[in-house]
Order: sequence, then structure tokens, then C-alpha cells
Amino acid sequence: MPIPELEGVIQGLGHSGYRAKQLFRWVHQKKINNFQDMSDLSKAFRTECDTRFELPQLAVHEQHESSDGTIKYVIRLSDDKKVEAVYIPAEDRQTLCISTQVGCKMACAFCATGYQKFSRDLKSWEIVDQLFVVNTPKPITNIVLMGMGEPFDNYDEVMRALQIFSHPFGPQIGKRHITVSTVGISDKIEAFIKADIAKLAISLHGTTDEQRSKIMPINKKYPLTELMDLCRSLTMKRGLRVTFEYVLLKDLNDSDEDARRLVKLVRDIPCKLNLLAYNENPFIDIKRPAEERVLAFQKILLEAHLTTTYRRSRGRDIGAACGQLTTKKADKPALPSPL
Ligand code: SF4
Repeated sequence: MPIPELEGVIQGLGHSGYRAKQLFRWVHQKKINNFQDMSDLSKAFRTECDTRFELPQLAVHEQHESSDGTIKYVIRLSDDKKVEAVYIPAEDRQTLCISTQVGCKMACAFCATGYQKFSRDLKSWEIVDQLFVVNTPKPITNIVLMGMGEPFDNYDEVMRALQIFSHPFGPQIGKRHITVSTVGISDKIEAFIKADIAKLAISLHGTTDEQRSKIMPINKKYPLTELMDLCRSLTMKRGLRVTFEYVLLKDLNDSDEDARRLVKLVRDIPCKLNLLAYNENPFIDIKRPAEERVLAFQKILLEAHLTTTYRRSRGRDIGAACGQLTTKKADKPALPSPL
């Protein structure tokens, strides 16, 4: 629970709200998960906590290390379902990519998690505990909610987890060091921006409604044209800069014409574009474009003076890169590409 919620519970039991802050600090900063070890609480209060509350923990089921230093953790939940978290080391930051759902309802055509289908939402503690359960070589400095699941499809639990991540009595991952990635669930975007609790990245992956709907079926509900209007109005109202993610899929959305359409789409929106080359997986027959194609695509964006980065994938050899996360085994022929 975030502190205000915990204070309500503790005060409801007739104790000072200060006890909530103490409990929160023990759990989220000192990583103690046994009430009896919380030495600055009275014995009677510790025993009351033992009878009233639980401090459940996730467990690392498997761990796979990539030659580039990336580590994929397969994490077991209390009902035996599994999610994945990925540690991505870099010189200036240590990032953990965290999951928010078991599977996903969004069914993006290129994504192994979407292929796995949806099983359930994660509770806030299951989102937060991924940070605590992984034993990374260096302490985590950045969090991205880009693992399994669509964060805004589990909005309330994600927002509770974000309040915990950034709290000064918690793990203290500053809000500028946390990024939440969405397929563009427009009716949650405005509330999220207002909450000012983390950075936002929106996945585009297509430049027309027809094309994007085939790659990301959610586009039928939240069409590109409306999404871009929302981004335009939010950036004007709030002086924001939006980050757009665009995964290049060979022969599906990676042509020069696509790049030129992308320029037109975002030209009047203060934004940054992150390009990724698709990471193949055994479930879906979509290919990764050649490096030269990605660079030619990027060149068109750069020539239009759009801030554009091309993120090299990490952890492809262990199935830990974007679009590859799944706890399902490849047991059927790959699905044909959608376009
Ligand atoms: S890309 Fe993200 S939103 Fe789309 S199916 Fe995969 S996990 Fe879900």
C-alpha cells in the first residue's frame, strides 16, 4: 500500500499514522519482511501486525544471463503463474524492466506476450516486489514498465506501485527515472500526466489507422488520429514532450514512405522518437529489418529535425528483448504476419 492508504488502515486500528511510515520504511527501504524484526515497533504492535497483515514475497524461478550483461528473471507468483523482469545494465544506469500483467489482452501482432494471451492483472505488491526479488549485480537506478502486460489496462494497481517506487521512504527511484509505456489508452493518458508520477512513452508502430490496427488491434478502439490529437493538446496545455516508441517490422512498417508519414504525423508535437528493430520470436512469422534499413528510416526522421534515437536491443540471445517476453513454450507453427 502507498503511505496514505496504509495510514488510513493503521489509524483505523487506533494507532498513530506515524506507525504506517515506520512499517513502510521497514518493508520498502530496509526490505525486511518479518514484523518481528522491525525493532523500533512495540512488541504488542508487531504481534498485532502479524495477526492482521501479510508480507508475501515473489520468488525467482529461473534466471538467464545474456552475453551483453542483460539478465532475464522468470518470477513465480503465489498462484504459480509466472512473469518476467529484465535487468539491463549500462554505463550510466541500471534499468529493470518490470511486468504489470500475466500475459496481455492487447494482442499486438509482433509480441510474444500478446500471443500468450491474458491471464490476470498483477497486484501492486507483485509489481513492486519484482524490484526486490531480483538479485542484480548493481543497484537499480531506473525502472521501465515495459515488460509483460499493458500498464494502463491495470491502471489502479500500477499507480499504487508507482507511488511506492518513488517515495522517499521507499526504494527512492525518482519519478524522472521511471517510464511507463502504453499502447495509447487515451482515456488514461490525461489522468496519468496530471498525476505527474513517472514519464510516459507511447507505442506507435504504425502511421495510418489501417496499418496500425493490423499491428496493434487496440487502435480500433483508440485510433491513431485521436491519439495524436490528444498528444497535441496535452503538449500544448502542459508544455510536455512525448516519447514515441516505433518498432520496425521488416516489410510491414519500415519503408521510406512509412518514415515520411511518421514525420507528418508527429511534426507539430514536441516529441522524441525511439526506434527499435524487431526482435524475432518463435511464435510469429515477422522478421527483423536489416540494420541499413533501420538507419535509412532513421535518416529520414533526422533530416526532418526530429529527435530520434535507435535503441540497440539487449538480451536477444536469452529472449529478453522487447516483444520477446513470454512464459509460454513454442509448441505450434508461427502465426503468419498480419499485413
Ligand atoms: S507489446 Fe505490450 S501491449 Fe502489446 S501485446 Fe505485447 S505486452 Fe501487450
